[in-house]
Amino acid sequence: MAPRVQTFAWRLLRKALPTGKRASKFSKHIDENCSRCGNTEDEMHFFLCPFSKATWFCSPWFIKTEILAAVNHSIPNMIQTLLNSGQPQINLSNLYTFLWCV
Ligand SMILES: [Zn+2]
Repeated sequence: MAPRVQTFAWRLLRKALPTGKRASKFSKHIDENCSRCGNTEDEMHFFLCPFSKATWFCSPWFIKTEILAAVNHSIPNMIQTLLNSGQPQINLSNLYTFLWCV
């Protein structure tokens, strides 16, 4: 896994990513809302933004993230569910690299 993806994964799991919601608490110049859809940008937005949902569904895994998020309420649970899904190309490296790209 690329070092930048490792750092991203660590920040995602530790809730240390500068998402709009988090970063807007420290600067009034940062919007807490997603620039694409206007909804609050937090970690779950990697799965629930309409752009992200389309990206996940167009991936080789054809994942409907709104269903995944309805069952799993945290990022680690969602990742664990994806890892246990039995899809042949899903592993930690591919998942975090995909999330980093989203
Ligand atoms: Zn969005």
